[in-house]
Order: sequence, then structure tokens, then C-alpha cells
Amino acid sequence: MAAMSNTTGATQKIWRDGVLVDFSECTIHVMSHVVHYGSSVFEGIRCYETPSGGAVFRLRDHMRRLVDSAKIYRMDLRYSVDELCSAVVDTIAANELKECYIRPLVARTGMQMGVHPGNAPVETFIICWIWGRYLGEEALERGVDVRVSSWRRAAGSTFPTMAKAGGNYLSSQLTKMEAKVDDYVEGIMLDVNGHISEGSGENLFLVKDGVLYTSSIASGILQGITRNSVMRIAKDLGVEIRETPLPREMLYIADEVFFCGTAAELTPVRSIDRITVGEGHRGPLTKAIQQRYLGIAAGRIPDPYGWLTPVPVPAGAAK
Ligand code: PMP
Repeated sequence: MAAMSNTTGATQKIWRDGVLVDFSECTIHVMSHVVHYGSSVFEGIRCYETPSGGAVFRLRDHMRRLVDSAKIYRMDLRYSVDELCSAVVDTIAANELKECYIRPLVARTGMQMGVHPGNAPVETFIICWIWGRYLGEEALERGVDVRVSSWRRAAGSTFPTMAKAGGNYLSSQLTKMEAKVDDYVEGIMLDVNGHISEGSGENLFLVKDGVLYTSSIASGILQGITRNSVMRIAKDLGVEIRETPLPREMLYIADEVFFCGTAAELTPVRSIDRITVGEGHRGPLTKAIQQRYLGIAAGRIPDPYGWLTPVPVPAGAAK
């Protein structure tokens, strides 16, 4: 087979079950269970460049969620949280990266047809790439224009929403593609009861009369790690937070709305269904939380939460 060229932006070394393999060798077969039935779970993590080198944001929390996702789907993930954390740090260091996005993936890569995975082998991968601002460079300040999706977020009784599973993202793809076709940056899914759920790859917050609102886990959201970071920062800023089912119209009358997620970080929403949110740009509470979040992640502000895991610079690497 001809060597596969790397047009994905992924770095050269990929961790595959304990071995760092070359990008071109890291392939799976078309008869793998995961290709046909979506049987994978994964994570998305960021490593930020800080004044003292690269640091991974909330690594342990991401790996705990990966282990939980695998458990829900009865996948035999053979690594502990500690082993997975070390593997991530090793992979970043081997690729000599200071800043990157990290994608751990656990997949049923064994050849097995039929829905039942049987003994199809499960493999674990850790891939890195450089990923800039997910919703656009200007989005963090100016905000994005979004719509309410015509697709509902799956109820927890159809797909477990606490698992970050590959198959869940079919519904996210429908939401994202529908939004893009009509020139919106993103879509907001409602839950099966019509309450606000989340974006295709982000959780959502609203501000109304100084109170910070976010959907509860009963609305089928992924329990985002960034969402949790936002709530901890807001609490320490003395902001009142309400986690509750939210009616759709709160989107239109909120003073501020923002998305949050590892890829999207904290991105303000400036209009929804062509209705302007607040003043039509990043609001003051969004700005305060966003600056604290990004400041801690990039090591510009002291980290009181223990959220950063340093990545050592490999011996002999260019500084
Ligand atoms: N919801 C969905 C559907 C997501 O894909 C993500 C990204 N993982 C999030 C929310 C945000 O989660 P986190 O903050 O842990 O990245």
C-alpha cells in the first residue's frame, strides 16, 4: 500500500495501545466493528502554552470521563486513569508540542460484523493536532450567530448522554450541517421536552438579571468539563448559578448567552434565529469568566484549582 499522506493536521506520532506509531501506519480495517456501528468513545482535551511550558487542562477529569464512557458501553479499556494521563503527556512530549488539541479514542477496531460486538478487540489511541479557535478567530470577542436546531438532542433513554460516544455525533452532525447550510456558525438543540439542551459540541449558558443559568443534566447534555470550570469560576466570582430546565424563549430574552467546551472554549453568542442577544456582542459576565478561564489555562493567572498538568520538554528538543 502506498504511504498515506497526512493532510489532517495530526502530528506524526500517534499512541496506539502503548506504542508510538507513525501517522501512516495508524490504520484500521474497513471490516472493523466501529466503522459500521459507531462503537467508539473519545475525549477532546487542550494543552496550552504557559510561561513555564505546555500544560494540559483538566487532564484527569477528561480521562475519568473516558473511563466512564467506556464502562457504559461495556468496552474493555485496559488502562487506568493514571496510565492514560501519562500516555497523553508522553504523546505530546514525543511530538514536541507546546500547544495542541488531544483526541484520546477507544474503539472496537476488531473485525466483527453484526451489531453484537462479541469479542471484537478494543484499541486505544491518542492523537494530537494543532487546533485554533474552533468557532473562528474573531468569535471569542465578537460572538457568533446561531439558530435553534430542528433536530432534538437524543433523550438519555435512547443514547446515554453522559457517555462521549462516537455514535452520538451523528445527531450533532445533523445540527451542525443544518446550521452551516443557512450560514449560521452553530445550532442549539432542544431536548425531547422542548427545553434548551446544548450545541453540537458545546454546552450553553445564559445570563439574565445577573443570574447565570445552564441546562440541567436532565436535558440530555454531555456533562462538560468546561461547563464545570465555568460554574466554579462563576461561584468564586460571587455569581448566582441556576442549573435548571430552561424554556426556549429564555434564549431570546437573555442579556448574555455563551457556548463553552474544550474546543470552543468560551464563545459568546450574539444572535439566535436572527434575534440579537443583549447588546449583540460579548457581555460583561461572559468576558469576566472567559478571561479568567483562558488566563488560568494559559498560565497567566495563578491556578487555584489544580487544573494544569505540565508537559516536560523532551531532552534535546528545540526550546
Ligand atoms: N457537549 C457536547 C455534545 C460536546 O461534544 C462537548 C465537547 N466535548 C461539550 C458539550 C463540552 O464538553 P467539554 O467542556 O468537556 O469539552
